[in-house]
Amino acid sequence: MLGWFAQNARDLPWRHTRDPYAIWVSEIMLQQTQVKTVIPYWKRWMRELPTIEAVAKARSEKIHKLWEGLGYYTRARNLQKAAKQIIVKHSVKSKSRRRRGNESQIKRKLETPSAFARLRRDKHVVSYKFPDNFDDVLALPGIGRYTAGAICSIAFNQPTPILDGNVIRVLTRVFGIGENPREKKTNAQLWQLAEELVAHAKTQRLKTFAGFAPLREGNSCSFFNQSLMELGALVCTPRNPQCKICPVKKLCVAFREGRVGELPNLGKRKTATARRIVAFVVERHGRFLVRQRPAGAVNAHLWEFPNVEIHPNPSGSPAKRVQSAHYSRKKSQSRLTSAATIQKHDWEIIHAAKSLGIEPATLQPLCTVKHSITRYRIALDAFHVHLGGVSTARPHLKRAMSGTRITRHSGNNGVWLTPVQLRKLAFTAAHKTILNKLQ
Ligand code: SF4
Repeated sequence: MLGWFAQNARDLPWRHTRDPYAIWVSEIMLQQTQVKTVIPYWKRWMRELPTIEAVAKARSEKIHKLWEGLGYYTRARNLQKAAKQIIVKHSVKSKSRRRRGNESQIKRKLETPSAFARLRRDKHVVSYKFPDNFDDVLALPGIGRYTAGAICSIAFNQPTPILDGNVIRVLTRVFGIGENPREKKTNAQLWQLAEELVAHAKTQRLKTFAGFAPLREGNSCSFFNQSLMELGALVCTPRNPQCKICPVKKLCVAFREGRVGELPNLGKRKTATARRIVAFVVERHGRFLVRQRPAGAVNAHLWEFPNVEIHPNPSGSPAKRVQSAHYSRKKSQSRLTSAATIQKHDWEIIHAAKSLGIEPATLQPLCTVKHSITRYRIALDAFHVHLGGVSTARPHLKRAMSGTRITRHSGNNGVWLTPVQLRKLAFTAAHKTILNKLQ
């Protein structure tokens, strides 16, 4: 495996460093995201926030903007929380009494809510050390067993096991494990195998391999774990694995027994649930109405155009089509005659707009963005709206009409912004696509 890795490892930017911070960022970004997508994000993040201290001090708007488009934004927020925790809990003690005094003052300051804002303003320099103990790494926010194992093995060459989707696929096939790896017992068995393998790798003396430049002596745990992931990504793929060129085909039970297609046995997939959302790009005097998602919601703190979920099936019962909208069907149909660009059966769109306090004079279909989040298959229909007035049903939008200031947490009280201002904000991936359509 090590020889194969030396010859075949992809030259990825985070493989040129042993800096645990850089490796940590790459591992968090790679969760649920493909390598080729992550590369430019990782480079930009490391350029803008080259140290843990820089992450801890960064404004949350900057963190969200750098993560914009990667999805699962809790990952970015946890990165910042963990960075702050590292500085508070793992600050390095100085030998100088004066410096020690300063450090304890800074540490005390950091424990107050606005501490990092002050730290940013005061330009303090903090000494800290990324923890090199598995339990300490695991205790950081947003770091689970896999990520802690990956950081400790890749950065510190410790024999800590890793088990992600790629490794599960390789191990179930090589060892011919037919039980569902999501089941507790089988999952524990796989962790045990991964642990034994990396412990064995530690006893191996690494030769100097010709091939991948960063492969150095004394990194056998790091490279063994990476070779497992790399084999799963490049050779032992979910469909059409390339067994003929696989370095472990002679050991592989699934290959020998012709069970490659059956493994891993992940059981039946849950069927995806369809959801439909309508978003309104409301324009007035060259400005657009946007709002910030509230704390605690999915994609919290990101920006979006006003939107509402409606019944996914247009032929469903009209009463169920528009959530939280109170309307009179007769009145809505008369309004349709003035919205010439909307088809007759789309009267529900008008009511969705009204449920948000928007009275459209005209509505034009802008685009449909299809995406999946966990088990939901979401279709987001965006409409360009020219206003005819503002419904009295949602006075908060009326208030928003006069305001253009960006508040840090505007909640559902939208603000009117120019395209230049919009580009500075972090949008959810689907709403970023809508924004790009406007340019
Ligand atoms: Fe995967 Fe085939 Fe290699 Fe077995 S022989 S580990 S199934 S690629």
